[in-house]
Amino acid sequence: MTRETHAFQAETKQLLDLMIHSIYTNREIFLRELISNASDAIDKLHFASLTNQGLLEGNSDYEIFLISDEESHTLTIADNGIGMTSAEIIENLGTIAKSGTKAFLEEMRKAKESNETINDKEMIGQFGVGFYSAFMVAEKVEVISRKAGESEGIHWESTGDGNYTIESCAKESRGTTIVITLAKDYYGTSAEENFLDKFRLENLVKRYSDYVRYPIKMSFEVEETPKDDAGKPIEGAEKIKRTEVRTLNSMQPLWTRNKSDIKPEEYNEFFKSQFHEWEDPMEVFHTKAEGAVEYTALLYIPARAPFNLYHQDYEPGVELYSRHVFIMGKSKDLLPDYLRFVKGLVDSPDLSLNISRELLQQSRELKVIGRNLEKNILKTLERMMKNDRDKYEKFWTEYGKSIKIGIYNSVYSGENTVDKLKDLLLFATSKEDKPVSLKEYADRMVGGQKKIYYATGADRATIEQLPQMELLKEKGIEVLYLMDPVDEFTIETLHAYEEKSFQSISRGDLELDDMESQAAKKETETLEKENDTFLKDIQESLGNKVAEVKLTSRLKSGAVVLVSDAQGPSLSMEQTFAEMNNPMFRARRILELNPHHPLFDRLKTLYAEGKDTEDFRDYCDLLYTQALIIEGLPPEDPVGFANKIARLMAK
Ligand code: ADP
Ligand code: MG
Repeated sequence: MTRETHAFQAETKQLLDLMIHSIYTNREIFLRELISNASDAIDKLHFASLTNQGLLEGNSDYEIFLISDEESHTLTIADNGIGMTSAEIIENLGTIAKSGTKAFLEEMRKAKESNETINDKEMIGQFGVGFYSAFMVAEKVEVISRKAGESEGIHWESTGDGNYTIESCAKESRGTTIVITLAKDYYGTSAEENFLDKFRLENLVKRYSDYVRYPIKMSFEVEETPKDDAGKPIEGAEKIKRTEVRTLNSMQPLWTRNKSDIKPEEYNEFFKSQFHEWEDPMEVFHTKAEGAVEYTALLYIPARAPFNLYHQDYEPGVELYSRHVFIMGKSKDLLPDYLRFVKGLVDSPDLSLNISRELLQQSRELKVIGRNLEKNILKTLERMMKNDRDKYEKFWTEYGKSIKIGIYNSVYSGENTVDKLKDLLLFATSKEDKPVSLKEYADRMVGGQKKIYYATGADRATIEQLPQMELLKEKGIEVLYLMDPVDEFTIETLHAYEEKSFQSISRGDLELDDMESQAAKKETETLEKENDTFLKDIQESLGNKVAEVKLTSRLKSGAVVLVSDAQGPSLSMEQTFAEMNNPMFRARRILELNPHHPLFDRLKTLYAEGKDTEDFRDYCDLLYTQALIIEGLPPEDPVGFANKIARLMAK
């Protein structure tokens, strides 16, 4: 291939600009990114060589080599990993195929538009922009690569100005060599950050890449006084120079060390370097097990849920090793899906290196390990909830949704997660600002209360203004606030907690048991009988938009409320289904009127003048539309609604 010039894909160019003009101060991380790419490339080669020995070309001494060259002010990172073909270089370095990076750009754009102050350290970290970070310090980046098993190499080059060139080249050893010609601020003794300084490089490797499983080497010039035959330095002799190649990283896998010898910082650094994370984790689990299946696991809960945790492109899973040798990156069958946020690795001599990934994932050993780890994690979470509530609440904010989905999904998976997870749930509540667990709710139910009440709505303020909240508040009954669409589905799946069933304040009968409520209910029933035709005629005038019109004992001062049957989906579930393009599930709508509200009498007066009068019909429609709006649903005919109000106002 002769020299060709290509333009970067528009998004890549954007990202490059962002890197080059980055306000980001922690530029040194580019080294870690490139080393981690090199290490990934060696992993890939190693894995491919298990089934195709020829790829090793007789050399299985994996290594990553750093060269700092003062003369050309270049820093080189060379690996003998899998390498790339020209097509792969174009694909991997010329376009942004990864949705994560796209999402990153999108977030940046949004943040800029809304003039938010952006913490790009966090942003870059959350999305991990890898290779392009080299442009933060580079005047020019060259990639010289030869794919294992191919004969020809390829030379890629860019100054980050929107174009890159590629051409064929000779390359003897397989793998990828990245040559960064440093921009002038990043080399020389007067530079603020000198990335040619070997001691600095050594420190950076130790800090960020110490546990990389392959040796990261660099040569150093050493001066020595010559020694005599007895090994004694010869006094006065001129010093001799020689080069010495040193391995900069310790390579000892952290998880193989004794728990008691590992400092928290070490766990944290390992987490960040191994899993491309930027923040210290929220929680670390390090366990060794001996017995039927022997394994060591080092698992982490990241401080923050990734932005795409619930999107299809999120790949859950932990790394698998056998006797410290990497087997696979994302084993998603190890832990249940509701723990998809857990990162980490499992190292077990009982896992076989030489079977396919598919078979491995289904192996008995892996299942045993997975079940044990699941138990461990749940136990830790329960303990956290009990002993460090603040921390648990943080956990809940980040990952609560996973747990809730975990319960809901048991409907489909057939695996009963309810008992395991129900005590991990937290809900916002009418009682206080802090969320409450079901156990806590049950323990503080008021005398005679048999059900666990809940309300659904977009946010706290909306729920607190629901007319049906008033009565419960007055009776001192605690109401759980469900503000995430998945909440109600979770509750439905739970069905009951400690034999107390859940009761929506907007569905069916409230079933309040106190004397006063019983009396109110009786009275309502009597009134309902008396007003039977009246209520039917209201329904008819609404053109059957509702299944039923009833009188209510649910309201105190409100005039009207729209509720749904205890059976079938609720109004909020109906909305969720509709958003998921599943409009089949309709709630059975019931319009409830407060017989003690002055509007009720007014309506009756109008009714007396005839059920087909414009006033009566308008009033019915206005009541219904009000009820919709209170529930957070849009009026079905906004213009008609406005006109009717205008007509009444002008009266
Ligand atoms: P990521 O590592 O998260 O995939 P990067 O931007 O760091 O993203 O790298 C993009 C892709 O370029 C990698 O996924 C890999 O396919 C390829 N790549 C980068 N560096 C190397 C390398 N040293 N050897 C082989 N392939 C590489
Ligand atoms: Mg990378």
